[in-house]
Amino acid sequence: MDRRAVLGGLVAVVPGGSAFAAARAQAWPGGARGAVSLSYDDGLSSQYEHAAPALRVRGLKASFFLTLDNMQDRVAEWRAVAAQGHELGNHTVHHYCGLPQTHPERFVQREVLDAQTRLEAMFGPQPKILAYPCGVTDLGPGPPNDQLHRYVGLLREAGFIAARTSDGPPMSPHYAREHRFDLNATAPTYETGSLSEALDYLDMAVARGRWANLVFHGLGPTRLESGDTANAVHEAILDAILKRPLWCAPIGQVLAHLGVGSASS
Ligand SMILES: [Zn+2]
Repeated sequence: MDRRAVLGGLVAVVPGGSAFAAARAQAWPGGARGAVSLSYDDGLSSQYEHAAPALRVRGLKASFFLTLDNMQDRVAEWRAVAAQGHELGNHTVHHYCGLPQTHPERFVQREVLDAQTRLEAMFGPQPKILAYPCGVTDLGPGPPNDQLHRYVGLLREAGFIAARTSDGPPMSPHYAREHRFDLNATAPTYETGSLSEALDYLDMAVARGRWANLVFHGLGPTRLESGDTANAVHEAILDAILKRPLWCAPIGQVLAHLGVGSASS
């Protein structure tokens, strides 16, 4: 039953009651209590070999952020990934991470815009979303806030709608709209390769009605090095998503649901 308070003849719904919980649930489609997006960064062959089939059998769609250097000899394979309904996002041409030393405009032109032009030539229109290589946003000289502001300004000018970092907790819809060029994410298996960090992150999204972004890199039968995820762990994470009341969709689709669909929105 709603917790209500009578205030000067008006009935107010008190946050924390079931009406608040119901409103929060309506934030996500189908009555889901949270959302999750899966990112696969760097354009690695192990992703279409291992991640795409695991997603397909479970009916899940994801965002693959391609680094052109890594995938340009495998266009046919990535076209097949796109044909399965996944989004192909921008992870630059060369994956440079030393941005304070670069010329900002030249960097964005050569690394981000050239990558976008080539991606769209290969795969058709895709949501203009960047995954910052190494999660680095300190473009050009100055303090961090100025660097991010400069980077975001150049991305907005170029028609980008959002950009994803590699750090931070699940986001509320309001936070994601306000910080669309600084979207939180986590790479839950990067350091340890274990399942528990991903499950905790998903549970936090469900408990708080938030949007979780999980990032993966290399995949394979076994974890060979830091950053890799063993197939069994990756598939256990996908199964954990299916068991929870989470809406799983690519980043561009979640943003569209939140009303972020163009550079000006
Ligand atoms: Zn990367």
